[in-house]
Amino acid sequence: MPSSVSDSVSGRVVIVGGGLAGIAAATALAEADLQVTLLESRPQLGGRATSYIDKASGETIDNCQHVSMGCCTNLRDLCERLQVADAFQTESELYFIAPNGECCSFSADPLPAPFHLTRAFLKLSYLSLREKVLFASAVRALAQARPEKLLGSNFADWLRTHRQTDRLIQNVWEVVLVSALSESLDRIDAAYARKVFVDGFLSHADSWKVEIPRIDLDELYSQRTRAALAAKGVDVRVQTRATGLTYEDERVAQVSLHNGDPLIADDVILAVPQHQLSALLPSSPKLDSLRQQVSQLETAPITSVHLWYDRPLTALPHAVLVGRLSQWMFNRGQRTLNGESAHYYQVVISASRQLREWSQEDAIAAVAAELRAVWPSHRVPKLLHSRMITERRAVFSVTPGIDALRPVQQTGIENLQIAGDYTQTGWPATMEGAVISGYLAAENVPRRLGRPLQIVRPGLPFAGLSRWCLGLK
Ligand SMILES: Cc1cc2nc3c(=O)[nH]c(=O)nc-3n(C[C@H](O)[C@H](O)[C@H](O)COP(=O)(O)OP(=O)(O)OC[C@H]3O[C@@H](n4cnc5c(N)ncnc54)[C@H](O)[C@@H]3O)c2cc1C
Repeated sequence: MPSSVSDSVSGRVVIVGGGLAGIAAATALAEADLQVTLLESRPQLGGRATSYIDKASGETIDNCQHVSMGCCTNLRDLCERLQVADAFQTESELYFIAPNGECCSFSADPLPAPFHLTRAFLKLSYLSLREKVLFASAVRALAQARPEKLLGSNFADWLRTHRQTDRLIQNVWEVVLVSALSESLDRIDAAYARKVFVDGFLSHADSWKVEIPRIDLDELYSQRTRAALAAKGVDVRVQTRATGLTYEDERVAQVSLHNGDPLIADDVILAVPQHQLSALLPSSPKLDSLRQQVSQLETAPITSVHLWYDRPLTALPHAVLVGRLSQWMFNRGQRTLNGESAHYYQVVISASRQLREWSQEDAIAAVAAELRAVWPSHRVPKLLHSRMITERRAVFSVTPGIDALRPVQQTGIENLQIAGDYTQTGWPATMEGAVISGYLAAENVPRRLGRPLQIVRPGLPFAGLSRWCLGLK
């Protein structure tokens, strides 16, 4: 836990934006005894990790299943600080549905990284031995490449240079990377592809494990989080939109609100998405390059398809669907739908640009047909209800050269920080990246007054064998 800094900082910090970045900054600074106000324009916290009420059924549904991995040490740290870490289920076994419908289970052996998943990979029946060798040698080359050498290069080109076949690209590289980075491979910076494999699979025996919330995102990141923040003394104000900042004597002095008196602030952290940042920035040439940078960030959509059936499709808790439109299936268990029992499944399609041309009905029908084909049954489950949600600006795209566009948290104005998954964290658009950005912005508040605090948690340590075999540092 950080030590108190209240004796050295005037202490009124206003954080605009109650997504994970803002929540992380608020948590860390409140624990450091600063006087924190968190403003969120919507009725609930959580930002993009959120739930909706489905009007047709009255059901609370997540905008999309949000999963994290063992390597997400800062998100875990935040959840521990907020006492919500119990809300996650760790999956130590993944289920891949091969193109021919076969279910391949994937779990680690009790071996140190990077060999813990070797047997599971060799068992994947839908890859030939030649493909496995080709893939393994490319992964090794990727891990051994220096990240700074990869930065700026297009990963689709990198794969071609490393002789990866179309089948391998579709059945392995896309399966991992499109889900992890929410982008098509031709729009991915090779350094980010490397990060997924190194941090997620090669560096530590626990890093690949998938963590899935057991409760709705609203309960997790809004209701329980809000209560925890209040207990730490954070003044959480939902349905409170910041409309601008007052800039005086080279400092931000106040945050204007749409519904009340301005808030006086010693420090301000803007934790809003990149496309909402410029409207809040005061006019100062010190912020010109920041505006310029964020205006060039591109985004990618993610679609989730929610399906309720009268009987179970499968007992699997989740499945990775290889080479299909549907990418991940999450079994959300038995629910009550309009007073009747129903079995609820959620299907995620990342980088879902191809669906732009489809009607909702066609997209839902295609997903439902895929699920029926994967899990055939004599008594075909009846689809009781469905819903599709597409978040058009779900994540920023990790396009080649992206790091030059990601701003650091400290702006050109001393007492103004920015936070958000798009800022410079080294992580792609993830909850982990958002939390790190919030922690980094929070660290800057006491640091500028000469009282540095270490808030960001280190990643999982690289296993000795990973360092030795792959040269990881
Ligand atoms: C469909 C979907 C699926 C995803 N799946 C995953 C996943 O499985 N795993 C993962 O790690 N990540 C996932 N992500 C990404 C993850 O949700 C984001 O990276 C993360 O939540 C971003 O947090 P943030 O705080 O940076 O921004 P946001 O969550 O966007 O928060 C910004 C907040 O600022 C508020 N705000 C904006 N303007 C104002 C204003 N003027 N005044 C007050 N408040 C304001 C907004 O309402 C919002 O609540 C997914 C994202 C989407 C959309």
